[in-house]
Amino acid sequence: MNRVYNFSAGPAILPEDVLREAAEEMLDYKGSGMSVMEMSHRSKVFGTIIQEAEADLRELLDIPENYKVLFLQGGASQQFAMIPMNLMKNKKAAYIVTGQWAKKAFQEAQLYGEAVKVASSEDETFSYIPDCSDLEIPEDADYVYICENNTIYGTKFKTLPNTKGHTLVADVSSCFLSEPVDVSKYGILYGGVQKNIGPAGVVIVIIREDLITEDTLPGTPTMLKYKTHADADSLYNTPPAYGIYICGKVFKWLKEMGGLEVMKQRNEEKAKLLYDFLDQSKLFHGTVKKEDRSWMNVPFVTGKQELDEKFVKEAAEAGFVNLKGHRSVGGMRASIYNAMPKEGVEQLVAFMKKFEEEN
Ligand SMILES: *Cc1c(COP(=O)(O)O)cnc(C)c1O
Repeated sequence: MNRVYNFSAGPAILPEDVLREAAEEMLDYKGSGMSVMEMSHRSKVFGTIIQEAEADLRELLDIPENYKVLFLQGGASQQFAMIPMNLMKNKKAAYIVTGQWAKKAFQEAQLYGEAVKVASSEDETFSYIPDCSDLEIPEDADYVYICENNTIYGTKFKTLPNTKGHTLVADVSSCFLSEPVDVSKYGILYGGVQKNIGPAGVVIVIIREDLITEDTLPGTPTMLKYKTHADADSLYNTPPAYGIYICGKVFKWLKEMGGLEVMKQRNEEKAKLLYDFLDQSKLFHGTVKKEDRSWMNVPFVTGKQELDEKFVKEAAEAGFVNLKGHRSVGGMRASIYNAMPKEGVEQLVAFMKKFEEEN
């Protein structure tokens, strides 16, 4: 067996302990005589899996009582529609556009009502987070939408926008569980789990209970109503059962690691290793404004396309894979999620130093 250092933005690296445990339980989950993939989602044994997953997530994020946790499908992208369908009572919402994912959400919302772009960083290829301390937010906007960590561009909101009393909705796909957050500041936070939590196929929505209503836009499909899933504790239809099981294992792993405060320290340390190197390198440099740098996704370039390509190729040969930047921006990107050990980043930096000397 030869595990590589996987810097993929998603689907991404998972803790090796979790994968080993899942492998051990593959044929016979805790004496059930079957794999979690083969069991009824209505069985007692699966009931325990999903309930424990929710309880552990609640503990990790300290989720207040008046929030529901939903395990859904359709990826983060389906939420781009589900949010306006469920929340646009006044048919108006404010969007802060800081990257491709926020832009897609903004465009999708226009299908359902008036989506107002209240801030954007597109003028400088999304390399920074705009000042959101005093935006002009329409009085009757149903919510303010952000993508908190921009997976493609490598920026992150270090302070949440001033929503002026409006409900905040955040896509946290690529920073989910990377540090503690105050859930009570959000109406909804949601994310596809394939970035920092588990296998593709599950999206977790944490939603304040008063936002779950029957009063959705006309024609909203049953499956796209938060109420449908909230009333059924995420078991309205067959959930992505195996994915939820793996997420549950990752939650337990995070608890064993010491929780999100410890993960935050680890993530900061890892990111600092890489950014400190980039800041003094004569060959490589980072592409985003320093104050807005993500600790999860670190984009960088050499400034020469042939050299970028050479680096990506040689890095892969040395066991550092998926370092190619997103197809829309080029260059390189190292995604260093929770499961990436510090050693992986140290080794990458050592490889980059060597590459710099040789080129
Ligand atoms: C990957 C990603 C998405 C899209 O997720 P899907 O599950 O593929 O729909 C949306 N938002 C962010 C921030 C992402 O990183």
